[in-house]
Amino acid sequence: MSQRVFNFSAGPAMLPEAVLSRAAAEMLDCRGAGMSVMEMSHRSKEYAAIIAEVEAALRDVMNIPDSYRVLFLQGGATLQFSMVPLTLLPEGASADYAITGEFSGKAYKEARKVGPVREAVNLKGENYARIPAQSELALDPAAAYFHYCMNNTIFGTKWPYIPDTGAAPLVADVSSCILSEPLDVSRFGLLYAGAQKNMGPAGLTVVILREDLAGHAREGIPGLLDYAVQIKSGSMLNTPPTYGIYILGLVLDWVRAQGGLAAMGARNREKAQVLYDALDASKLFKAPVDKGSRSLMNVTFFTGDPALDDKFVGEAAAQGLVSLKGHRAVGGMRASIYNAMPRAGVDKLADLIRAFEKENG
Ligand SMILES: *Cc1c(COP(=O)(O)O)cnc(C)c1O
Repeated sequence: MSQRVFNFSAGPAMLPEAVLSRAAAEMLDCRGAGMSVMEMSHRSKEYAAIIAEVEAALRDVMNIPDSYRVLFLQGGATLQFSMVPLTLLPEGASADYAITGEFSGKAYKEARKVGPVREAVNLKGENYARIPAQSELALDPAAAYFHYCMNNTIFGTKWPYIPDTGAAPLVADVSSCILSEPLDVSRFGLLYAGAQKNMGPAGLTVVILREDLAGHAREGIPGLLDYAVQIKSGSMLNTPPTYGIYILGLVLDWVRAQGGLAAMGARNREKAQVLYDALDASKLFKAPVDKGSRSLMNVTFFTGDPALDDKFVGEAAAQGLVSLKGHRAVGGMRASIYNAMPRAGVDKLADLIRAFEKENG
């Protein structure tokens, strides 16, 4: 028997054991095809059935309206930083960006190469430790769209509300919170997420967009970067990330078996609460994020003494609690507790936080 650890990595991240076991069972012969999904032609009848099932499952789990298209792309969330403005930012228009962390800052920088963009808010000066209130957003009423990152993976903050941006369609990077709780897709123009946080392996990017937004790409851009072209080809302009899409299907089956997104959300709130309660009760550890802006998926904390932080990370690893070192931009610790992290892993980490304080506090 292999010894599975509790993996708190921010991504690529833990997957449900049931998903990995099923993938293993289907590795050599997937559903009677006599081959692995990895070996199937993406144009085969077997694979056509798989990709159609996965899209249907995603639509079902996320309650995606019929007026939205689902795309299975590559290039990570990072390529969406460019694809979004290449299609949604017409010549002569400007877009608004909320900068609440590393990735939204990168999205802003990439968009600036395409056309004029504005900072609707920028909380770098506050170390991104909170999410701005609606009243702090300096909105351009004529903005082509408003872009924000719903859950800031590195800093551990999450927007506690969906911003009201008037006529400007909302575009959200949901890489680290997709499938973590129910989300009203109809409020958004476009959602995108790299799969490796909460959906599957790296290499797959899911885009969900309102169909009417797709057909306005800049002249002369590569077909791969044009949503309308990707829609027309059914995400098969070239070979899609076939195995990642299949794993997403297994993850979605697992989410449904857990009771869907409402049940995932309830469980994720409980898991996060266990950690935040332990941190709030501690004098040694601090959670730097404003209480109203706390992420359910990425819990950041530190002692204030880098040597003590390292000691904590080392002791945790010795107990099978791995990848707790914070992002290099923040330091300290970060516990990423996506859907696949069992409650038992979080309980064990909370126990260690208390025990470590007794010994070192
Ligand atoms: C991980 C992450 C990214 C970067 O994703 P890639 O797939 O590596 O491009 C972007 N945004 C958020 C919120 C992330 O968590």
